[in-house]
Amino acid sequence: MTSFPRRRESRYNKNVASETKTCQNCHDPFTIEPDDFAFYEKIDVPPPTFCPECRLQRQTAFRNVRSLYHRACEAPGHSENLISMFAPDADIVVYDQKYWWSDAWNPLDYGKSYDFSQNFFVQFKELMSKIPWPNVVSTNSTNSDYCNSVLNHKNCYLVFSGIDNENCGYAEQVDLNKDSYDLKKAFRNELCYELVNCNECYATSFSAFSTACVNSAFLYDCRGCTNCFGCVGLRNKSYYIFNRQYTKEEYLKKIGEYGLGSYQALSATKAKFDEMRLAYPYRHARIFYSSRSTGDVLTHAKNCHSCFDSLGEAVEDSRYIYHPYGKPVRDCQSVFTLSGGERCYEVISCRMCSDIICAKKIWTGHRVKYSYNCHNCNNIFGCVGLRDKSYCIFNRQYTKEEYESMEPKIIVHMNAMPYTDAIGRVYRYGEFFPVELSQFSYNETVAQEYMPLIKDEAEKLGFTWRDPDTKNYRVTKNAEGLPDHIRDVTDSILEETIGCAHEGNCNDNCTTAFKLIPPELQFYRKMNLALPRLCPNCRHFERLRKRNPAKLWHRSCHCAGEKSENGVYTNTGTHPSHAKGEPCPNEFETSYAPDRPEIVYCESCYNAEIA
Ligand SMILES: [Zn+2]
Ligand SMILES: [Zn+2]
Ligand SMILES: [Zn+2]
Ligand SMILES: [Zn+2]
Repeated sequence: MTSFPRRRESRYNKNVASETKTCQNCHDPFTIEPDDFAFYEKIDVPPPTFCPECRLQRQTAFRNVRSLYHRACEAPGHSENLISMFAPDADIVVYDQKYWWSDAWNPLDYGKSYDFSQNFFVQFKELMSKIPWPNVVSTNSTNSDYCNSVLNHKNCYLVFSGIDNENCGYAEQVDLNKDSYDLKKAFRNELCYELVNCNECYATSFSAFSTACVNSAFLYDCRGCTNCFGCVGLRNKSYYIFNRQYTKEEYLKKIGEYGLGSYQALSATKAKFDEMRLAYPYRHARIFYSSRSTGDVLTHAKNCHSCFDSLGEAVEDSRYIYHPYGKPVRDCQSVFTLSGGERCYEVISCRMCSDIICAKKIWTGHRVKYSYNCHNCNNIFGCVGLRDKSYCIFNRQYTKEEYESMEPKIIVHMNAMPYTDAIGRVYRYGEFFPVELSQFSYNETVAQEYMPLIKDEAEKLGFTWRDPDTKNYRVTKNAEGLPDHIRDVTDSILEETIGCAHEGNCNDNCTTAFKLIPPELQFYRKMNLALPRLCPNCRHFERLRKRNPAKLWHRSCHCAGEKSENGVYTNTGTHPSHAKGEPCPNEFETSYAPDRPEIVYCESCYNAEIA
């Protein structure tokens, strides 16, 4: 009889301050800190063999939100055409999500006993290819067919990862927006267009990292501004143009020169604004109401390291968390998209979870390991597509006692018979799923948004790549053939297939052509906005490039005393962190890479100038 010792003491070196390891994927060194070791010990997993960045890439290569296809429903007696996040040639079974969530089929029918003569991941992959999958994730939505990963949507078109949006189009990571188009990470905006990381704005366009602004355009890092145009770092101001104060009368007269209805004028303003932005200091990290935390775009964080993109909920005692939203996240590591979680490790797209190791899309789960798309389950291992179950392994039901005796044996087996992928990376217990198990190609997934690759690079790393489908439509109007001004656009534009100005020559999943939908045209007319020249995918990727990567560099403050280091910005305030004329000694972790052109100030110097 084999015994299965826990070997806790020997696995973790508690005496060292930190340990440097070599990532088995990118071969770069990465550091495991004492806090990391304490966490791995608590959840009883070995330290990771992939660096944090490669872990993020591996996880996000399993999440497709924006790539949609047509595919037939394969539920018994069904054949209707579905909008699906799975390509028609993906080797899986797809059901209409309403049927999938019904009791008309039983996921336990796909159960099999654990085979100790075969690798765990090989068996798991086989289960993944046999079990049915829901076509999209969409709950309680009306007239919003071309949306995925959404809840409570009304009249939305191509809106992804969102809750409670109404009359919106071309948006992602968005909640509670109304009558708005072209948004990335936007919360509670109305009548807005082309926003990146903006909240609570009204009738505001072409803006980023701004909050509570009204009747404005081309804002960056502004708060509480009304009737402002082309401004950076303003707080509670009105009637400013390119950071210069005007009277109301002067403003109204001058603003006429900068109409957004003409594409030519718009392009000139964009270029001028992009240049102007670089003349102002940037806050090294957009972290607010937080303590002892590093990362970017975080609020209410406590003891967090390398965490990014929260939507405002508390994140505590966690490391490498990306896009926590909705509910607090505590004591978690290596997570992408989580709403409410404790002691989660290597998980993605989960909600209301505790004690989860290596899993995707678990909604309400406890003590779940190596499972995918299971809801309201606890004590499951290696399961796919289960609902309301406990003590299952490979979708087979066991008693509590049987489960508890089998689980440690499987862990030993996963270590004794590890999985080696096509390029030689080895996966034992504690590693996330090998990328070969993803149902998606790299360029269909969120990985392409965080770490864009070209086909060759992706394939070298063991990812698959999806070449664009052959289009069966004909472009009837080139981008340059569109009227310059929105006032000259007639309704016949709705019949045209417009060629994207990128013509497929970019790495942004360009669809090469696009059509306008009627409410979108009405919106451009109402807001006096020139027609876009790029397809929705190219516009999405342009917005992504306005954000920093989810990565940190150790840098020092660019404040040289009276001016910025590069001499471009002249300080106006008193800086508490250093004497006037002396360079600021502060150092920090920032998502602005060293080769970036922005002037990056520490919080203290930034606050003296901007806030
Ligand atoms: Zn790596
Ligand atoms: Zn395009
Ligand atoms: Zn400073
Ligand atoms: Zn300073």
